[in-house]
Amino acid sequence: MTDTTTPDAAALLRIGRDKLTVSAHAEEHAACPDCAAAPGEKCVRPGQGKIVHTRRYGIAAMDLRRREQDARRTPEQDAALAALPRIPQAEIEACRTDRGGYRFTPEWLTAHGVPSPPPAGWRRAVERPEELSP
Ligand SMILES: [Zn+2]
Repeated sequence: MTDTTTPDAAALLRIGRDKLTVSAHAEEHAACPDCAAAPGEKCVRPGQGKIVHTRRYGIAAMDLRRREQDARRTPEQDAALAALPRIPQAEIEACRTDRGGYRFTPEWLTAHGVPSPPPAGWRRAVERPEELSP
């Protein structure tokens, strides 16, 4: 007989493991905005049951997701993103909406040398720093 009210033990284990992965990534790669721990340093008093402060955890979770997206891209997709022109931050900010989001019209994209619909990862590609090679 299966007890459907009990959370799946395997799922719980996976969530626990993911948390450890993100926390370890945070400790290794991210500075903490809360306790000023540098990459490689442990958080000072991160809170009950936590390894790192919440904001440092969030930064690391986002970075991990980006790395996963980067890893999934084919060489062709990487090349297409690298070929996109740089777009000045002011041009991007001009597309801010009243609600704080962004709205990029097909016309705007085309005018700035980005295909429409734009490829995944285009924002980061066009906002890349000038001096850094891809
Ligand atoms: Zn911290």
